Amino acid sequence: MNKEVVVCKFGGSSLANAGQFKKVRAIINSSPARRVVVVSAPGKDERYSVKVTDRLIEAWDQHKAGKDWAIPWQEIWVRFAEIAAELGLKTQLGTHFSQIEKQIRNGKASYEYVVSRGEYLSALLMAEYLGFEFVDAAKAVFFDNSRNVHPITYEKIEQFCHDGNGWVIPGFYGNHGHMTAIFPRNGSDISGAVVAAGLNAGLYENWSDSVLRSADPRVVGNPQAISLITYREVRELAYMGAAVLHQDAVEPARERGVPICIMDTNNPDIPGTMIVEDREVGSQVVAGIAGKRGFVRFNLAMPGLHDRVGFAARVLDVFSQLGVSVEHFPTGTDTMSVVVSKDSLGDKSQLVAARLQLLTPKNSVEVCNGIALVAVVGLGMVNHVGTMARITGALVKAGINIQMLTQDFRQTNIIVGVEEVSLDAAIRCIYKEFFERVEI
Ligand code: ASP
Repeated sequence: MNKEVVVCKFGGSSLANAGQFKKVRAIINSSPARRVVVVSAPGKDERYSVKVTDRLIEAWDQHKAGKDWAIPWQEIWVRFAEIAAELGLKTQLGTHFSQIEKQIRNGKASYEYVVSRGEYLSALLMAEYLGFEFVDAAKAVFFDNSRNVHPITYEKIEQFCHDGNGWVIPGFYGNHGHMTAIFPRNGSDISGAVVAAGLNAGLYENWSDSVLRSADPRVVGNPQAISLITYREVRELAYMGAAVLHQDAVEPARERGVPICIMDTNNPDIPGTMIVEDREVGSQVVAGIAGKRGFVRFNLAMPGLHDRVGFAARVLDVFSQLGVSVEHFPTGTDTMSVVVSKDSLGDKSQLVAARLQLLTPKNSVEVCNGIALVAVVGLGMVNHVGTMARITGALVKAGINIQMLTQDFRQTNIIVGVEEVSLDAAIRCIYKEFFERVEI
């Protein structure tokens, strides 16, 4: 393939019903370059408040618990049947559903196989609707033993999408040792990036229900749309909760120099957010703000901690031995904190605290729950004096206590820790400071 090809990935909200399928077809037909389509499973709409993938998980859980799984299964079936009927499609949905059911009943289906069927069925319908060829991700996307994408994937994708009109590939899953393997939730973004990288596409268009904005619209009313941003900035924002693109979708595209454009399926004519390697920094210091709840901080006090060679390594080793991933570890002269996500910590909080206690004097380990992190991201912060002061000033004015403050060495990301209850207020006041305050 070549640079003239555009790979388009459509998210769940863009495929939630027949009306959304029609919008997708209009978008694809509006440009001959849009020949490769990667799809999610149908998401939420006004009628269905639960994503197909979540219903599949529910059906699987009920089946595993020996309970009746007819109710979630029925809803999935009705949703696909409605889409097919309204679009006049002939795909034999009944045959596909009974095959999947059979696999589940005779114990041959895995969790990954079942939850990936939303993408599979969605892609079958979309392929027929567009008149494109269906490429099963089980034959094109391969995982290695560490569940990373195996390089053979890039060759396979090139082979499958070679001669023809256009192709539709289901997102979210692939193959590992002849079994279905899946990406993390919302992983169709990653599939799209992998396909775009494999084809050396000129552009990876990621279509969802919004372009990228400088803050979460649910927190800040009508935040500014971002027209141009770098891969690095987006990765930081996505990691800290900016929902439009999966954080792991950036790297495959970046590695092969494929620009990403985030587009809005419901407003296809408004310019999207272009994500590129580098950009000119204008007068805007901050590009975006994102925040996430669900962090825990372990505080350790130890006189003379800064002089003890190897102490920090021993502390971090406690986390690594228990398989807990460390996010930040700010230190003071006699103190050290380790911030981890609740997701990674699971139920090991007491165990971690007990092991840390063995390294420090009695009663000097404290566990603080309910921490949220706010990331303030922007290339414009590099060598720009006063950004930190503006952030802390805004928080002080809003009466928000800062629990932690750190900046990455590239100076493009400042992270502020606040109490979870203050997260939205913190984002709002920082947004106001950088996007609404008139400079004099
Ligand atoms: N359908 C999957 C999910 O809901 C993957 C995706 O939509 O990207 O997580």
